[in-house]
Amino acid sequence: MFEKIALVGIGLIGSSIARGVKAKGLAKATAISTRKQETLAEAEALGLGDIYTLDAAEAVRGADLVILCTPIGAYEAVMDTIAPALEVGAILSDVGSVKGHVHRVLAPKVPRGVHFVPGHPMAGTEHSGPAAGFAELFENRWCMLTPEAGEDRGAVERVIAFWEALGSNVELMDATHHDLVVAITSHVPHLIAYNIVGTADDLESVTKSEVIKFSAGGFRDFTRIAASDPVMWRDVFLTNREAVLEMLGRFLEDLSMLQRAVRMGDGPALESLFTRTRAIRRSIIEAGQETEAPDFGRQHGSAPGE
Ligand code: NAP
Repeated sequence: MFEKIALVGIGLIGSSIARGVKAKGLAKATAISTRKQETLAEAEALGLGDIYTLDAAEAVRGADLVILCTPIGAYEAVMDTIAPALEVGAILSDVGSVKGHVHRVLAPKVPRGVHFVPGHPMAGTEHSGPAAGFAELFENRWCMLTPEAGEDRGAVERVIAFWEALGSNVELMDATHHDLVVAITSHVPHLIAYNIVGTADDLESVTKSEVIKFSAGGFRDFTRIAASDPVMWRDVFLTNREAVLEMLGRFLEDLSMLQRAVRMGDGPALESLFTRTRAIRRSIIEAGQETEAPDFGRQHGSAPGE
């Protein structure tokens, strides 16, 4: 599909792409670049690519597809390094979880003749680094692409075909709309998880050991999300501020209503909401985005305390 793919950043997402490219034979060569020598050495030991370099410009030279896979906060500096080395006709893409900001900071720096097709695979785990990736991560998950309306159709089609080859479903979307959608489906849920785990950690009347011991009551499912990469998520909230604040405002209003229902002992209001939300979970399972198995498909009997 491509002569040379360059991946700048080789953590969970970059290494999953690298593995998928290899498994599906999507490029003649994969060049890998990252910031730290030890991360590069780890990627090489895992055999994720063909060319390994700490110099991002060297990685992208001669590449027909370049994908930025670093935290979003690193994009501008990375772009300043690679821009002079990008080939005319190459496609520049990324996997960042926020898209409006990425358009704003990268688009002005994209050299003439380079196609810019930003993307966001809606797939991930709470783990980070080259060893955390796996080729199947994107299978049956959605990948949103947010090219500008005037972008070269052929380049967009090639990126669509690339993600489809990795097993994803692809949707084209306006960057601003993308940011609103992910604010409610991903960013606010992460903020809530970070908050509830932080609140529990700060409690004095319930001890930390009790929180950990009795976590199966619901808390532990939040801790999975709240274990997500601190730097990546810092950058998400720094760059998708408006959409997150809008959705958070809605959330807080609804939470106040729920607080009132609890205070007033309003059973019908509580039951009516919980019935609606249960139906949403069913729809997610029916859409193939979650397993039918109880308890998130956890294997029982083997985990400590179960
Ligand atoms: P990760 O596992 O933490 O990997 C980040 C990679 O970027 C590492 O190779 C790291 O290299 C490199 N890096 C970090 N800071 C850098 C800098 N200043 N300059 C150059 N390289 C730098 O992160 P990830 O989960 O793969 O996330 C990467 C991107 O994917 C983010 O933009 C995120 O928004 C997006 N994304 C993540 C998920 C998810 O669930 N994790 C889902 C969809 C999209 P060193 O070790 O060498 O520093």
